Amino acid sequence: MRAWAVIETGKPLQEIELPTPEPTGKQVLLEITHAGVCHSDLHIWEGEYDLGSRGKMRLTDRGVVLPLAMGHEIVGKVLKWGPEANSAGLKVGDHMIVFPWVGCGKCAECLADEDNMCRVKPASLGVYQNGGYATHVVAPEPRHLVPLGGLDPSLAATYACSGITVFSAINKVMPMPADEPIVIVGAGGLGLNAIAVLKAKGHKRIVVVDVAQGKLDAAMKEGASDTVLADGPDTAKRIIEVAGGQVGAIVDLVNGTDTARFAFDALRKGGKLVQVGLFGGEMNIPLPLMPIRALTIQGSYVGNVKELRELVKIAQSGALPAIPITNMPFNQADAALNRLKDGKVVGRIVLSATAA
Ligand code: NAD
Repeated sequence: MRAWAVIETGKPLQEIELPTPEPTGKQVLLEITHAGVCHSDLHIWEGEYDLGSRGKMRLTDRGVVLPLAMGHEIVGKVLKWGPEANSAGLKVGDHMIVFPWVGCGKCAECLADEDNMCRVKPASLGVYQNGGYATHVVAPEPRHLVPLGGLDPSLAATYACSGITVFSAINKVMPMPADEPIVIVGAGGLGLNAIAVLKAKGHKRIVVVDVAQGKLDAAMKEGASDTVLADGPDTAKRIIEVAGGQVGAIVDLVNGTDTARFAFDALRKGGKLVQVGLFGGEMNIPLPLMPIRALTIQGSYVGNVKELRELVKIAQSGALPAIPITNMPFNQADAALNRLKDGKVVGRIVLSATAA
């Protein structure tokens, strides 16, 4: 198989030839047709997370091995499967979304279809093993595959990460009255899918914050009710003004030192901040304010395969607005990453085997 792989962190991806894996056990081999380019790939490519005053966390120290074909928003066609795979729902050529957040496959979490919370051995595709920037991928088990069922494969690819990540994060602040503002920080691939999920849930007040006016324009097109340009020290004040008061729920899809600060300051009594982004840095919390204001801060890590199935059903019902997609060929994966790094992507770039 061919892969567009990270050979060295921060250096251009290289096209390499690897042996095409032969599926064993319950594994399913797929030919990849689409792969979304997520901002997490940028962090992996750069090779480290910013932990603020604790320094940097190197991914190679956390089990990431190079060369690596990144990419975890994968759609592909079933080619063959191992002898222990339950083939009841499988046909050669079936077009499937590949759930990438897999684990050891044996612990209580994995057996409950909550592999993303595996505490034994996270084995996510495109992170700890080869993923979507390649011609082929191996899904550990058939239960990690969700049929496209008529969805646009480029858009459906984004549901494997950005879709379920925001679905899971939004579920952590729900239920909320439809007219009560929910703030989304960051209007990139995740942010636009967050607006789509909130629209599908019938939510009306969606306040979106970003540093780029072009991203806020895209957020309005996607269905945001209000926007705030985070271009100065008074962002919390402006969120409160736009929302008509301090807010009950903020989903921070950036989660850097500055966004954590303004998000904290914009919360009302009893409010909840869900932290999703991996931009990094540090949050400094004045401790008495946590109990006095009865605040909740919760992290949210991707989503599980049950949530993927649920989200796909909502999309198939027609309730989930599409986010803007730009297709590029696989051999331009490096250019796609650089466009994302430069802030030039509205919605998502999805690599496609048929893009020119
Ligand atoms: P993206 O590049 O598509 O979008 C990021 C958006 O944030 C852009 O619109 C950018 O203008 C905006 N932004 C940057 N700095 C900002 C700031 N200080 N204030 C407000 N807006 C700002 O990225 P994405 O693919 O949507 O991913 C967003 C983040 O979420 C990344 O860090 C990614 O790694 C992370 N992520 C986390 C999970 C999880 O499970 N927790 C899953 C997927 C992605």
